[in-house]
Amino acid sequence: MKDIADHLWVIISAMLVFLMQPGFMALETGLTRAKNSINVAIKNMSDFIVSVAAFWFIGFGIMFGKTLYGITGVTDFFVNFDVDNWKAAFFVFQAVFAGTAATIDSGAVAERAKFSTYLIMSFITSAFIYPVFGHWAWGGLFYPENQGWLQKLGFLDFAGSSVVHSIGAWVALSGVIIIGPRIGRFTEDGRVNKIRGHNLVFAYLGVCILFFAWFGFNAGSTLAASPKVANILANTIISASFGGLTTLFVSWLFSDNHLPEPEMIINGILGGLVGITAGCYYVGEAGALIIGIVSGFIVFSGTHLLEKLRLDDAVGAIPVHGFTGVWGTIATGIFIRESFLVEMGTTRSHQILVQALGSFTALAWALGMSFILMKIINRFSPMRVSRAYEEIGLNIAEHGASSSILELSSSVRKIIESRNIKTAQKIDVEYGTEIGELTGYFNTMIDDLKAKEEAAEEALESLHCMAVTDGLTQISNRKNITDTLEKEISRSIRYGKKLSILLFDVDFFKQVNDTYGHIAGDKVLVDISGAVGDVLRESDYMGRYGGEEFLIIFPETELAGAYIISNRIRETVEKMMWDFCDGFRVTISGGVVENCGEDLTRMIKRADSLLYHAKGSGRNRIEK
Ligand code: GH3
Ligand code: MG
Ligand code: MG
Repeated sequence: MKDIADHLWVIISAMLVFLMQPGFMALETGLTRAKNSINVAIKNMSDFIVSVAAFWFIGFGIMFGKTLYGITGVTDFFVNFDVDNWKAAFFVFQAVFAGTAATIDSGAVAERAKFSTYLIMSFITSAFIYPVFGHWAWGGLFYPENQGWLQKLGFLDFAGSSVVHSIGAWVALSGVIIIGPRIGRFTEDGRVNKIRGHNLVFAYLGVCILFFAWFGFNAGSTLAASPKVANILANTIISASFGGLTTLFVSWLFSDNHLPEPEMIINGILGGLVGITAGCYYVGEAGALIIGIVSGFIVFSGTHLLEKLRLDDAVGAIPVHGFTGVWGTIATGIFIRESFLVEMGTTRSHQILVQALGSFTALAWALGMSFILMKIINRFSPMRVSRAYEEIGLNIAEHGASSSILELSSSVRKIIESRNIKTAQKIDVEYGTEIGELTGYFNTMIDDLKAKEEAAEEALESLHCMAVTDGLTQISNRKNITDTLEKEISRSIRYGKKLSILLFDVDFFKQVNDTYGHIAGDKVLVDISGAVGDVLRESDYMGRYGGEEFLIIFPETELAGAYIISNRIRETVEKMMWDFCDGFRVTISGGVVENCGEDLTRMIKRADSLLYHAKGSGRNRIEK
């Protein structure tokens, strides 16, 4: 029978262990980029609630139910507490442990794992992968006669270096392998890029919380209020501190920039905590110290090993929980006090073998099972978000959350990439904050630049128009009409099409100017170009070639057809009347030619000599 102190101690410890959730949440959000921070926090919270549900439905029964040959529990599903207070306290303590195992992989696969499939994996971990191994190692914790096969062999894992931490880490390893590295983490030329977390202060706060939560994790695993708790806590803080000190100095000495690496220090502390978790009850302070130091080395080298293998663990969860989990489990056999060996009637070397068997069984079981299950899930629904989602960040992509600073940077990026201010999007202004003020200025600047860009475009368009149009008649100028003719000549040659032109000149135009003035002369020119334009077909071109000389292009038209239209033009002009003098008329003379494979100069020259001939033959006529 458990007394009231035992109840209280386990419940208080469970509450402490719950703090692992905010601890991991702060640690992981701090170690990842701002664009994914909300997603990481949501995953951390959601995996806990999913995990409690899964553990209550199935997990608890598999782990602590009546055993079937030491392989799995088969009772106590949908856990029923009735008036069994101890069972309720025990359940709460174990449920927060399951939650811890399930949350470990969230950090490793952060910034690219899809939310929905991540939740499915959390459920499977807490309902199946974690409790099965848990049964093998801890099956007898609730019903003492219910020992799992590893426990029967004498396997010792006091608070779960293997049972909780390495199981979580091996699930994470499968995730990292299947989901793949974050964009840009490893480049094709073999470079490794560090992706810095956005808030290391937050990560440090997270580790402080975890350190505190670990007191409950390790010392609560006595499942009884006992003076032994003090030794467990002493071992825990010694190992954690020496783990952190080791990575602090090792990174200082051996990292590329020879500075104490902030991420290494906290991961060293966590490595020390994971390392001592299995043996915190069994080893002395010297053992704890060595376990901590070796854990620090393992975290440092394990992190670099993963990089060498091009495995992207966003927060270092696999070296911290997996590699030091194995070490801590085996180290329990190495440093276990003699009195325990005597009590258990075993030898140190035998114990080390059993410890190694247990930790490698955890590896094989959790890695193998999670790998198979994730492969299956991944086939039905990819466990990774799309490239676009990953780039925009999971806060926006998966939760519709946003942040002004992200919108600002994506808007600026779009402008730089497209080199076009028009693609710039205005940003919702967050009132009363510094970033809100900045986005307000940005919006004003964008409006300004857009207006300037539009004005510049209009000016450019009118410049272009001016460059190709004759100022008086508003038809093509000489340069534009000859450029057009040049293009039409090469087109007619390339496609074997006919092409004709008409060059015409107003007869006795000097007299018009001399008699009625220059302004009247201008009006005549404008009116002629308008009237001629009406006679032409859609496909024809007209331009002012010189003073009162005009060039007409008839694409895909042979000489005879061009001649007919040209005469129609001549007749149209002949019929025109102006009101500055009764009966005032003008006529035109012109030459029509069809291209015979010649260039622009020769073609115009032929038309010009026909025009000259028309003038000599009495004017008001078209020669061909
Ligand atoms: P012809 O029948 O031989 O062509 O006699 P013409 O008087 O038309 O002789 P010519 O072609 O040599 O004279 C062209 C005149 O057109 C000269 C110039 O004063 C006048 N002219 C040229 N450009 C303009 C213009 O833009 N506006 C006005 N009003 N007159 C122009
Ligand atoms: Mg003339
Ligand atoms: Mg002339």
